[in-house]
Amino acid sequence: MTFADLTRELSAKLPELKGRMKANASLSDITWFRAGGPAQLLFTPGDESDLAYFLSHCPTDLTVTVIGLGSNLLVRDGGIPGIVIRLGRGFGAIAIEQGNRLRVGAAVPDVKVARAAADAGISGLSFYRGIPGGVGGALRMNGGAHGRETKDVVAEARAVDRKGRVHRLRVSDMKYDYRHCGAPADYIFTEALFQGQAGHREDILAEMAEIADYREQAQPIKSRTGGSTFKNPPGHSAWKLIDAAGCRGFKVGGARVSEKHCNFLINEGGATGADLEQLGETVRARVKDTSGIELEWEIRRLGIAANGKISKGGS
Ligand SMILES: Cc1cc2nc3c(=O)[nH]c(=O)nc-3n(C[C@H](O)[C@H](O)[C@H](O)COP(=O)(O)OP(=O)(O)OC[C@H]3O[C@@H](n4cnc5c(N)ncnc54)[C@H](O)[C@@H]3O)c2cc1C
Repeated sequence: MTFADLTRELSAKLPELKGRMKANASLSDITWFRAGGPAQLLFTPGDESDLAYFLSHCPTDLTVTVIGLGSNLLVRDGGIPGIVIRLGRGFGAIAIEQGNRLRVGAAVPDVKVARAAADAGISGLSFYRGIPGGVGGALRMNGGAHGRETKDVVAEARAVDRKGRVHRLRVSDMKYDYRHCGAPADYIFTEALFQGQAGHREDILAEMAEIADYREQAQPIKSRTGGSTFKNPPGHSAWKLIDAAGCRGFKVGGARVSEKHCNFLINEGGATGADLEQLGETVRARVKDTSGIELEWEIRRLGIAANGKISKGGS
């Protein structure tokens, strides 16, 4: 699938743009699943004011989608029409502030947040060692692990809306819930201020090493996966329901339910976005049949099918 090239039209409207635009940019090179179609136009803003400039001048009929490190994304095979924004180096700063705080750009990988906090003797952020996304994705997904979530450690965030206006949010403005953030859907997070507690570097590093070891033995972290496919329904574990429904190892095309952790889907090589989505939907249907419980996708499904059709599900 190839989309119309929007770069010339947008360059004419945006003479002062600092960031990079790329037409028909592959997203399968970016996402953890390594599957799915391209972005009609991938924009990497130079910094927050460049992002605001782009959004305030970008025609309103173009849809804007933001992606992070692609560790929670299933991109459909027809790709994502409109603009896909991915923050890069201009959002990569990490600054330690007084009172055990870290101010971090939204493109910084979570693992680096954990490491920087440890080096500064700030505890409470080591759970980020196990989450392979970036800060923007953690803010939007309320990423969490090992008993902690982003909502427990974020004090403030900055975001730019679809009109290019910059907002400063307190944690209460984020309206957090399990793997959900209620801040307006068009907000693109650009920065987070994390609050930790005083700790000892060596203890924090030991905790991080334990988390890394646990991940290695419990999850297929070296595979092409999107992490937990479904949210845990209240009072249940998604993986136990999937296992009880007999779906462990289940296969559609090049996609398989992981044998190691059955809430993970794996691209075994050559899986399409449609294989992965169909496998997920098959699992949902089987779990509904056996337990009566409807699993809700945690993975964000984006874009259109190979035939250009817009699917019902997705975010
Ligand atoms: C092996 C593996 C293990 C995982 N383990 C965990 C875990 O323990 N806990 C957990 O919570 N998750 C886990 N995940 C899922 C994933 O890492 C998290 O959801 C992560 O927070 C997503 O971040 P990302 O940068 O990859 O975002 P993406 O996957 O690129 O995007 C996810 C969502 O965030 C939005 N988004 C991204 N950046 C921004 C931004 N700057 N502003 C606004 N919205 C944005 C996107 O639009 C999308 O809706 C795991 C994934 C894998 C592959």
